Amino acid sequence: MTISRRQFIKGSLSVAAAAGLPFSLNRPALAALVERKDRPWEDGYRNLFKGERKVRTINMPNCTGSCAWNVIVKDGIVLRVEQPLDYPDDEYNPRGCMKGATYHRRVYSPNRVKFPMKRIGPRGAGQWQRISWDEALDFIASEIKRIAAKYGQNTIWVYPPVPATGIVKQGAGFRFASVNGFGIGTFYNWYGDLPLAHPITWNVQTEEHEFKDLLNTKYAIIWGSDMLQTRMPDAHFFTDIRAKGVKLVYIAPYFDPTASAVDEWVRVRPGTDGALALGMCHVVVKRGLTDDNHLLKTTSGPLLVRNDNQKYLKATDVLADGDAKAFMIWDKAAGKAMPDTYFSDKPALTGTFDVTLKDGKKVGCSTAHTLLLKKLEDYDPKTVSEITGVPADVIERIAVEYASAKPASIWAGTGINHWYHGDLIGRATIELACLTGNVGVNGGGVSPWAGQYLMRLNPTDYFFPKKEGGKPDDRYRAVPLDTAYVVNGPTETMANKDKLWRQIRCIWAAGGNLLGEASDQSNLTRKVLPQIELIVSPEIEMSTTAQLADIVLPVVSWFELPYDIATTPSHPYIQLAEGSIEPMFEAKTDIEIYYEMCKRLGTGDIFKFNRPEPAIELLLETGGPQVKGITFERLKKERCIKVNLPSSPYASFTEEIQGKKKFKTASGRQELYKDEDRFIQYGEQLPVHKEPHVATPYGPSKVWSEAKKERNPLYEKYPMVYHARHTRWSVHSSWRTTEEVLKLDDIGQPLLELNPVDAAKRGIVAGDWATAYNEHGFVKAKVKLRESVPPGAVLIYFGWQRDQIREGHWNALTHNDINPIHEIYFIPNVWGPVSGHFDKLCEVKKS
Ligand code: SF4
Repeated sequence: MTISRRQFIKGSLSVAAAAGLPFSLNRPALAALVERKDRPWEDGYRNLFKGERKVRTINMPNCTGSCAWNVIVKDGIVLRVEQPLDYPDDEYNPRGCMKGATYHRRVYSPNRVKFPMKRIGPRGAGQWQRISWDEALDFIASEIKRIAAKYGQNTIWVYPPVPATGIVKQGAGFRFASVNGFGIGTFYNWYGDLPLAHPITWNVQTEEHEFKDLLNTKYAIIWGSDMLQTRMPDAHFFTDIRAKGVKLVYIAPYFDPTASAVDEWVRVRPGTDGALALGMCHVVVKRGLTDDNHLLKTTSGPLLVRNDNQKYLKATDVLADGDAKAFMIWDKAAGKAMPDTYFSDKPALTGTFDVTLKDGKKVGCSTAHTLLLKKLEDYDPKTVSEITGVPADVIERIAVEYASAKPASIWAGTGINHWYHGDLIGRATIELACLTGNVGVNGGGVSPWAGQYLMRLNPTDYFFPKKEGGKPDDRYRAVPLDTAYVVNGPTETMANKDKLWRQIRCIWAAGGNLLGEASDQSNLTRKVLPQIELIVSPEIEMSTTAQLADIVLPVVSWFELPYDIATTPSHPYIQLAEGSIEPMFEAKTDIEIYYEMCKRLGTGDIFKFNRPEPAIELLLETGGPQVKGITFERLKKERCIKVNLPSSPYASFTEEIQGKKKFKTASGRQELYKDEDRFIQYGEQLPVHKEPHVATPYGPSKVWSEAKKERNPLYEKYPMVYHARHTRWSVHSSWRTTEEVLKLDDIGQPLLELNPVDAAKRGIVAGDWATAYNEHGFVKAKVKLRESVPPGAVLIYFGWQRDQIREGHWNALTHNDINPIHEIYFIPNVWGPVSGHFDKLCEVKKS
């Protein structure tokens, strides 16, 4: 039986009357409601949502969120976005932040690049001529041919963004560079996101636990990462564990939003985190809290090191027919040096032994763990307190708490990577995890989550296509040139200098707002750009890079893309991005632009793709075990699929720690001890604390016993540490010009944040204009005073576009001194110079 609305109201009235219920509406009003037949306003309301279409897609900035959004479209216009709440693991629902919620404002931003444009005035003067796509592409092709003929094909240099933020779109840049034999830059180490300690210790790019694994931890330390601001969709995991009674400690110099949400905040002197970690290691050893089984079976601890040259003893040193790759241990039962077998419990973990070499000579050898214990003697809590400013009793207490609460985890961010000696700081935190057996277990680990570098599939066939008729691994390859060298190279210590170094002449800034976000901004603009004969900037908005380019090409937003796929280290899913509206203005997809360029350069048949669909199929078919069984068709249906991983929630190295397989290092073990010549030359075979290379009042880059006796002359001139940091209001420079977000960020312009004590010394009050400057450059901005900034530091939340800054640039004060340890090998984005842009000093004056 169906009841009309009118009957229902009538019925309700009679029931209510019979029950003697009071009414707020009087009889004439009710009669009007019941009798009135034309009710157009109701249709108006009903039709509000009529004709709406919903498309589930993902946000793809480099924030590691990789959050899904339902895009609501009507009449070809995006009305709003909503969180779909459809992640298979409930803990990841909902995800998103105000930036994702306002992405459609960027789609319709007045700042959009609408059509191809050619510079007609001096670079950066803002004088443009609108041209057609054919004119733009023909001009670029002819310039590329000219430059390549004059200087070499590899002087055309493509700067790629982080590929997991749209593997088809971003990967097309790699494919473009490869098929044409162009140069290609690096991003992950250049941003300062690469935790070099990971390849050093484990020979992997980076390893981290997914966020959900936090729920397994019994004790957590956030180390140098403002998680609450920068990992918005996953920050709840930290508060969730606190609700479960798990203690959460935060180690950082700033009292930032994360500091306000933990059980204990430990303020450390900027750049001395490595000393603090080693101080904690010292306490763990002294208190007998080490996990010797973990150290013996899985770390370099039992491997023998020759006392005469600090190199690992190899089987070829001892045995005539020894295996050159075999490392040696001291077999306790046999009483002699023997080749190492992974996961064995036969070796001695500590001790020094005389070993007879194959030529009959005897050499003293110590286990690497013995050397590590000796090194740790330098890091007693009193000394470490002197270095770091952390009270000795706090060092003792948090070390004992961490070591006693297994599993315990460390969540380390870019705050400890962005230093010249960031590799040493990272190695010290890993040493702490190894000593306590917290590697390879759920709830443990050292997880950096810096940058959306992790593709969770092998993209080789898409990035570097096979040559037809060639051998199986005969591929088209780009010629890498680390971005650090483009800006600040070459160096004498650069790996493969003769083969790799060249002055580049054309920049294809494929994304990442290179000219706005690059540290070493002063060198980049003064030294590099004058030598560049062509800058091409495909962009959705007039970013700093677009403003400084010669040709700007309009690119579609994520909502105009046909399809793409994306992954992140934060959660274990591969997701489909699907556009919901037609390309705006004259915008094209990146893959289409590259294809059109390749056609003009004679490589169109090799590049092959001008649509994303076949590229996605190729990536999934050839992507390897993590995406086995995941097809494009499945993705179109399910949208979000968990990749195949050895553990759930994913934790790093679980199989290695169970002895199921070895680590990927030369020794097959976690290499806390390193014996490459340069590690020995710099005294960094084991993690040590070295003072910051620049940002210290003491002897720069020296160990404490030497550093404390010296004064840094630069510090006398520039006594403040300068940090440009991530904010919640942007992902790097993305959203920096979005009005809705900008309104929420203080006064919507760059601010220099100072401690009131420092401001008073300089006669500065809140709201004054001031200039932070050093020997590299300056930035002028209004001043905000905060106790949360430690005395002796200047903070600026970054990402501002060139035309939003009063004078100078927030990255003009940074400079990339290249650490020779970072140059021992060159594996693009895996082992290369890591930007140390936190390691900088400045002075501030009222202006
Ligand atoms: S900006 Fe990052 S965290 Fe925010 S919604 Fe987008 S992907 Fe998620």
